[in-house]
Amino acid sequence: MTKGRILLADDNRLVVKVTTAILEKEGYAVSVAWDGIEAIKKVYTERPDLVILDIEMPKVNGYQVCRLLKDDEYTKDIPIIMLTGRERQSDMFWGLQTGADAYMVKGFEPERLLSVVRERMENSKRKTDKAFPDKEDIQVDDESGLMRRIIDVLDKKLFQSTILNKIGSLMAVTEDYRQVIKGALEILTHVIGNPVGLVILFDEGEEIVNIASPVSVGMVKVICEIGMETAVSYGWEPKDFDSVNNVMFGEDLLRTDKSDVDREMITTAHIPLVSRKKVFGILLLASQEDGSFSAHAGEVLKVVGGQLTMLIDNARLYDSMKKLAITDGLTKTFNHRFFHELLEREWRRAERYNSVFSLMMLDIDDFKGINDTYGHLCGDELLKELARLLKGNLRATDVVARYGGEEFAIILPETSGDEASVTAERVRKAVEEHVFIGDESGLKITVSIGISSYPAPGLRDRSDLIRRADNALYDAKRARKNRVCLFEEESSRKGA
Ligand code: GH3
Ligand code: MG
Ligand code: MG
Repeated sequence: MTKGRILLADDNRLVVKVTTAILEKEGYAVSVAWDGIEAIKKVYTERPDLVILDIEMPKVNGYQVCRLLKDDEYTKDIPIIMLTGRERQSDMFWGLQTGADAYMVKGFEPERLLSVVRERMENSKRKTDKAFPDKEDIQVDDESGLMRRIIDVLDKKLFQSTILNKIGSLMAVTEDYRQVIKGALEILTHVIGNPVGLVILFDEGEEIVNIASPVSVGMVKVICEIGMETAVSYGWEPKDFDSVNNVMFGEDLLRTDKSDVDREMITTAHIPLVSRKKVFGILLLASQEDGSFSAHAGEVLKVVGGQLTMLIDNARLYDSMKKLAITDGLTKTFNHRFFHELLEREWRRAERYNSVFSLMMLDIDDFKGINDTYGHLCGDELLKELARLLKGNLRATDVVARYGGEEFAIILPETSGDEASVTAERVRKAVEEHVFIGDESGLKITVSIGISSYPAPGLRDRSDLIRRADNALYDAKRARKNRVCLFEEESSRKGA
């Protein structure tokens, strides 16, 4: 009864003799291969429990043998110890890069070798025994076939490290996490050829879809459904699917033809995105091809998954930090500081393109009374709800910011004073009719709104624009509140 079968691959007779003696004395059965090709053949025909590989060997070197064995499902669990006379750190690095389990420099103490062998044997025994393919399935006698496989494997490694490089460079190009995700999906498209890729981020409640080649609307819809189901299987609990924000890139490639979509025809591959042991999203690639896509896609995802995950996680973290600095914690609208920055941008844009824009100042009427009656916490809830109500009644391009306590500033690009008055009136009415903090509370409020716009006669600068909107707001308050006032020029202001 042997302690285990070891394949020793080395072209140096002396090393083979000494090493064999050490191992046999300890009770191992040793088989010898004199070059890389023989080593590969013997691994398949004899299925050793452990392989000791020299790096410099004829025909195929130890690194290449190691890569090939570690790339094959059937042989990758066999422990490999790399053996070399060279002591350079870079050899060690490459040895481990190729997937070797341990690395030893020749001239070792027998005890040292034995302890490494023992340890590796123990480790691999704990892994479940895999089915080993029949000898006939593997063309071990076909030397050129083996060589071709080695080249394939090396090619694949090069290809994978190229993708990793590309993915790594994405972060430097852009900080916006949606752009990062789009870029990552595009790279995967290039190498795998999937027409549709998507990422679902659980916390953000967002589905980012990238369409890379012409595809029907119906198919994209089904793929998105599969994505959602996959996300749910990882524990995602969206409030409701309609509330998921859908961001789509490459929409111009959508075909609107009404052909039926057969779900069975769609193959997918996906990975969970994991950070700090928590799944924060999924990445899914889909194709209408046969099953070979998912095998290939799955393999690529396995290799680049970690890098992808880190990239996406970093990008969204960065994004949320950035948001934190510009948003108001309570209402999630932009904060006062950022409002001024946005106003400056809008002012410059309007100057450059000769366009118009308006500014609304909105203040809750008698809010002090609400706080006194319902409490400060209830007042906070009301502010949050009002912010949502405002956003819901404005265009996506309009900018809502919390200017102060219960005062909001709203920038309306491409909007004249008169147009802004119509919008403001709609907002005022929506607030007036809305019941806050649940229907049973019966809690209602009103708001007063002042408006100023750019360009206007005598308008000097941004603070002048704000002052004008403030004056208009003051007019609205004086006129018994719950109303909209457009700034009128000083000369025509009644009582001013
Ligand atoms: P007016 O119609 O003239 O605007 O009367 P008002 O009571 O709304 O205005 P006033 O400026 O007298 O009072 C503003 C109130 O808003 C006082 C303050 O307690 C409340 N407030 C400001 N910020 C917050 C906040 O973040 N949360 C809550 N709950 N209340 C706030
Ligand atoms: Mg007020
Ligand atoms: Mg006030």
